[in-house]
Amino acid sequence: MDAIQDKVNKAIIYSEPGTSATEVIELPLEAPGPGQVLVRMHVLRIPPFQHPKEMLYSGVCHTDYSICTNAWKVPVMVAKGQIGGHEGIGEVVVCGPGVSHPTIGSKVGVKYIASACLSCRYCLLGMESNCVAAKLSGSFHPGTFQQYCVAAANYVTVLPEGVPDDELAGLAPIMCAGITVYTGLKHGNLRPGDWVAVSGAGGGLGHLAIQYAKALGCRVVALDVAEKNLLCTDAGADEFVDVFGFTQDTDLCRHVRETTGGGPRAALVCSSSNTAYSQAIQYLDTTGTLVCLGIPEGQQVPIQGASVALLVSRQLRIIGSKVGNRLDANECVYMAARGAVKCHYQLRKMNELTQVFNDMEEGKILGRVVIDLR
Ligand SMILES: [Zn+2]
Ligand SMILES: [Zn+2]
Repeated sequence: MDAIQDKVNKAIIYSEPGTSATEVIELPLEAPGPGQVLVRMHVLRIPPFQHPKEMLYSGVCHTDYSICTNAWKVPVMVAKGQIGGHEGIGEVVVCGPGVSHPTIGSKVGVKYIASACLSCRYCLLGMESNCVAAKLSGSFHPGTFQQYCVAAANYVTVLPEGVPDDELAGLAPIMCAGITVYTGLKHGNLRPGDWVAVSGAGGGLGHLAIQYAKALGCRVVALDVAEKNLLCTDAGADEFVDVFGFTQDTDLCRHVRETTGGGPRAALVCSSSNTAYSQAIQYLDTTGTLVCLGIPEGQQVPIQGASVALLVSRQLRIIGSKVGNRLDANECVYMAARGAVKCHYQLRKMNELTQVFNDMEEGKILGRVVIDLR
């Protein structure tokens, strides 16, 4: 514990769950227990400074907003004082008893799933996000909106060697957004050359989905509001569709089908709009797959138009996908660390999280927000 003696841990807590109120507080440092490591959110050394210049990062996910404000109207809210966040990049500074891997100094990522039992049937099937014993970062378990985070040694994602320090902040959002869309694409059973529709394409998930799809050799039709056209095109989208550019949903669906020569093989709905889901089931190619990622808020309604007759006659698949497992995490971090995927992000301060949540609510965020935890 020598490395952290006399240090305090600054954290952002949800001060009034059910609203977007947050507060920056100082907490005593916690020592890691057996099987745990203490992760110091990334420390960046920029020459020519003699002393380390600290850069501490956590991405902000729409799920953080939903947990803080209880946007999904779950019966039991997180308690006042919850430390949110689940997209952390840091360095191991202390290993708890019995931990031989990762070692001190390892650069690691902390994910939405903070830990899983790794022995139940779901874990054995690679569905660790459904483990009944899983703990969730930032939801009833301390998250990554803090300078020091105690994490399960066998569940952190060790980053590939040689990532330049100034690129580490951009890897934070890969720990949830990247894993989510990369795993979603896997569920799409795609082949190189296939068309993929990405709905909500200019958001945190969407702009990464475009890049992962391109890296896998697919073609992308991006759907979002007109202001996000440039971000989507920069991310590599082959076609852009303005979702408000059509008077009728049927016109939009016809346009997507025509643009893609019969409809995309898979649609990744990253948006939390019910309309985006009902459009996707209509414009998909026969035998295509609708991958559900973004969760609509408020009252949950079925996907309009997804009749059994349609699903059977066109052999469509609808699949829900929740983050990914440790292998998915390794693969998608590898791709990002090697430059195939770059997150578009803006840095914001710890005391700006409430404003970030409010900006999210108003749909004002382009790409991702990463919190500078200094
Ligand atoms: Zn997330
Ligand atoms: Zn399990």
